[in-house]
Amino acid sequence: MDKLDLSETEWRKRLSPEQYHVLREAGTERAFTGRYNDMKADGAYFCAGCGAELFDSRTKYDSGSGWPSFTAPASDDAVIEHVDASHGMRRVEVRCARCDGHLGHVFPDGPGPTGNRYCMNSASLEFEPRDAA
Ligand code: FE
Repeated sequence: MDKLDLSETEWRKRLSPEQYHVLREAGTERAFTGRYNDMKADGAYFCAGCGAELFDSRTKYDSGSGWPSFTAPASDDAVIEHVDASHGMRRVEVRCARCDGHLGHVFPDGPGPTGNRYCMNSASLEFEPRDAA
């Protein structure tokens, strides 16, 4: 996979302020405010930073958390996970494998078959309907 490594100036040009805050500063959008929280359309979710395919709508479910939630990434190598000890919590952060952009966190309280809940920020994602892909 070709990594995308841009300067902070280049990222600021490419991203909206909200996208920059989430992807490059590991920010979190407020619950129930993201544009994809209630999205049920059939398609794929791509990284808003670099365009890599990250999630498929077939793994999306309504977790009630207020953030778009998936049981698994589009492929095992699409995302990188590592321990995040910020904010007094021990969580597993999820980043885009291609551009290292912050996407959200993964929690072990999801439904089958994986038991995982990939809790993502809408600001990190760009949806495309299946027909257009
Ligand atoms: Fe990316």
